[in-house]
Formats: sequence, C-alpha cells, structure tokens
Amino acid sequence: MREENKDYTAYRESEEYQRLKYIRRQKRRKQVMIARICVFGGGALFLLAIILLIYNFVIAPNKESKPVSGDESNILKEEEVKYFVIQERPVIDVQLLTPNEYSRPGIATETIENIVVHYTANPGTTAQQNRDFFEGLKDSHETSVSSHFVIGLEGEIIQCIPTIERAYASNQRNYNTVSIECCHMDETGKFNDGTYDSLVELCAWLCCKFNLQAEDVIRHYDVTGKACPKYFVDNQDEWENFIYAIDQYMDKNSVEVTKEEWEGVYGEGETVVTPTEEASIEFSE
Ligand SMILES: [Zn+2]
Repeated sequence: MREENKDYTAYRESEEYQRLKYIRRQKRRKQVMIARICVFGGGALFLLAIILLIYNFVIAPNKESKPVSGDESNILKEEEVKYFVIQERPVIDVQLLTPNEYSRPGIATETIENIVVHYTANPGTTAQQNRDFFEGLKDSHETSVSSHFVIGLEGEIIQCIPTIERAYASNQRNYNTVSIECCHMDETGKFNDGTYDSLVELCAWLCCKFNLQAEDVIRHYDVTGKACPKYFVDNQDEWENFIYAIDQYMDKNSVEVTKEEWEGVYGEGETVVTPTEEASIEFSE
C-alpha cells in the first residue's frame, strides 16, 4: 500500500501528469466558455423574440390603423359611413332651367356640406312664378339669381337645377350648398303649413342624400347675415324648432341601408335628385 501511495505521489509530480492536468483545465475552460456563450446567446434570442412579438401584436396593428396615404384614409372613412334613406320620396316637379349664365351657369358643385333655406321676399307669388322668373333671366339679363328648388304655397316642390350644378342663391357658398327658396303669403315671411311641411320633407331627403345632419341645414342669414329667410331670422326659436322637426322626421322616416341600396335610391356618384338627360350637360368649369 505504502509503495503504491508513493508511486501515486511521484506520478502526480511527474511532467506527464502536469501536462494532462493542463489539457483538462484548458478543456474545462473551453466548456465554460461555450456554456456562457449558449446562455448569453439564448438570452439575446429570447429578448429578440419578445421584441418581435410586441412589434407584431402591439405596434404593427396600430400602425395599420393610421394610414399614411390619402387613398387609404378614404377607404376607411367609407367603411365608417352609415347610409340612410327616407322611405317615402317627396314629390318633386322637375322643371330644369335652360342652361344660361344668369341662372343656370352649368358649373359643377363640390361636395355638398349644407342645405341653405331662403324665402322669396316676394309675398303671394307661386313656386311656378319664381321658377319662371329664373328661367326668364336668360333673356332679360336683369340679374343673376336662382335656386335648386322652390317650394310653393301649396307645398309643391319644383326643381330648377340639378344638385350637381351650382345655383346663384347663397353667395360665397354656392359651390358646396344646395339652395331651397320658399314662397310665403305676407311680409312676415312666415311659411304656411303646406310650405313648411314640404320644406321639412325635402331637407330630410337631401340630408340623407348628402350624408348630412339636420343641423347642416342653415339659413341664408348664416352665410351672409342677410335677413333671409326673414321669419326664421326674426324668430330664432322657430328656426330651432324647424331644425328639430327635420331631425324628428329623419328619425321617424329614415332607415339604415347598405351603400348599394343607398346608391340605388340616390344614384351612384350621381347627385341629381331626379336624373334627366339635361343633367348630364358638360360642365364649363
Ligand atoms: Zn336668401
């Protein structure tokens, strides 16, 4: 036994043993190094995976909902738009004016943003007389004035100009509004029930057509400060009641439809209330 121990001690001190010991130590260092690289590399990969996950599920979806180009935002807007139609269409007597520079200039309207209400300031005259006065301007050259619609004392509605064309009614807002002239019996400018009811119906119909709210119906007064329509300028409460009446009418009589059904009622890309051949004239603008 003792002999053996002695041999072993000698062996431990031998050059061979020291060499093997050095090799083993180097080998272990290498393994430790590899293990460290594995742990560190794995950690880095794990971190990268987390970053990718956050990007995919949190950042990327948010980015997509904020489109950069205008086209994309239009597509999104279109998806959000709700379409309504009035179930019963108002009776509209279409008597389009002859295109002429004094009352039907044939200039296209832009996107309609408001419906403007006027009064004729000509007590007792009928819708037909007012329409014919506009028509006569092509010869008389007396002045430049017109309106898309005229509502008479019996509640009759005459359309003089397609809504895709400008009328000469609301000054600086002719380019993006639709105008309605209303007949009245006396100097107060108050509309009788027939005129009033047709005005509510027509405004509601046009609001659905142009995706507007009742509040988007305004007075000529709101554009220029002119006392038109006089009764609704003199009586602010009555004006507010009128807007409320349109809102109520829309609530009661409009139904939400698909875009296709809405286009079926109002015409695809077409803003003429009653499409006619005359409405497709070439625009000079
Ligand atoms: Zn006016």
